[in-house]
Amino acid sequence: MTLLTFPKLFAKPRSAEVVRPERKLRIGIPRVLNMWSTHRFWTTFFVELGVNRRSVVYSSETSEARQREFGQGRAAVDCCYPVKCMTGHYGELLHGLKKPINVLFSPKITTLPSILQGEVRNTMSCPRVLAGAESTKAGFLREGNAFADAGVIYVDPVVHLDEPKLAARELFEALDPVLEDLTPEEVEAAIEAGFAALEEFDTSLRKQSLNVLRNCAADSRPAVLALGRPYHMDPGIGHGIATELQEAGYPVLWGQYLPLEEDLLDWLYRDLLSAGRIRTPFDISDIWPSSHSSNTNELLWAARYASLMPWIACVIRFSSYECGMDQPTYTPVQETVEALGTLFFAFQDLDATNPAGSVRIRVETIDYYLKRRAQKIIEQKLAALDTPPESFSNLGSIKDAAQ
Ligand code: SF4
Repeated sequence: MTLLTFPKLFAKPRSAEVVRPERKLRIGIPRVLNMWSTHRFWTTFFVELGVNRRSVVYSSETSEARQREFGQGRAAVDCCYPVKCMTGHYGELLHGLKKPINVLFSPKITTLPSILQGEVRNTMSCPRVLAGAESTKAGFLREGNAFADAGVIYVDPVVHLDEPKLAARELFEALDPVLEDLTPEEVEAAIEAGFAALEEFDTSLRKQSLNVLRNCAADSRPAVLALGRPYHMDPGIGHGIATELQEAGYPVLWGQYLPLEEDLLDWLYRDLLSAGRIRTPFDISDIWPSSHSSNTNELLWAARYASLMPWIACVIRFSSYECGMDQPTYTPVQETVEALGTLFFAFQDLDATNPAGSVRIRVETIDYYLKRRAQKIIEQKLAALDTPPESFSNLGSIKDAAQ
């Protein structure tokens, strides 16, 4: 069985070589929020600016123990659980590393790069993500300046990651006082390298997903799609539910890393395209007209992908603390997923409580339904599609068998 594995998340890219004189600084970055989908950009960006790749360090995954040890007394005034957890990450970077950092870098990522760019109204971050850095910083300035006390420079620029030129200006202004002799040209080149590395990384995970689906197709076995925001990949925020499902024997794909091969998309979306319901496979205007928020847009897009892809027999929806941003999406996501019979289960209240027992019971429930219904779902979805594309050329017999 091929599983989608994520050991490379936050690993240091090997390809990025330092071409400039080394800048002897240690940069600490909190492993939070949209850093889960953009970390490869940031690591490469700093390496390109001459920071040793071993000196770009991320805080650990979220955990209750870390939160208690490093976040105590610093609580952010915010009801959003993923934002609340930022205090533990800041605290760890300031007080929990063997080798201290010089700079705590916590970008306020305002807009995100997205595969849906051009098809949606905007690719903005959740406003709470933006405010998260501010409210967390406030907790570390409550009784004196905890950054200065630790000898750390705090840098939290607003960054429009969907506009490289604007991002270059924002990052140059933020880092000029910190990195000696920095030039705007260096920052522009580092941004370009960062995006190239991010694309390469995303492509490699999409290829892994494609292989998982091919194997599922060859064996006529179901895969599960995890539908959440990037930080739900953090086991401390997503409570390791995806891992439990993998351990139960189901390959889990993430909506952020679905395969995008052209022939595959043509195959899946042919009926919707020829009915004129969508203009391209990336068009979500019929199911989500209010497409301003990047992660929300991609949730809806992945929900439809899952509803069409025969071997995704089940979707698990993640949402934290009954998040207000997610609430308007509950019905459209569920309706979209279930349109052709795909199973849908939701974990909508993930917060500090980590009820391992109830998660296990729910995973057993999902397993129960998959065992009984997955084959039928695969067959039904295959029957609704034409001949499979070349990239799934081994599927002809499966399709025949399903008819
Ligand atoms: S989308 Fe919801 S859970 Fe995520 S950061 Fe925004 S408010 Fe918090």
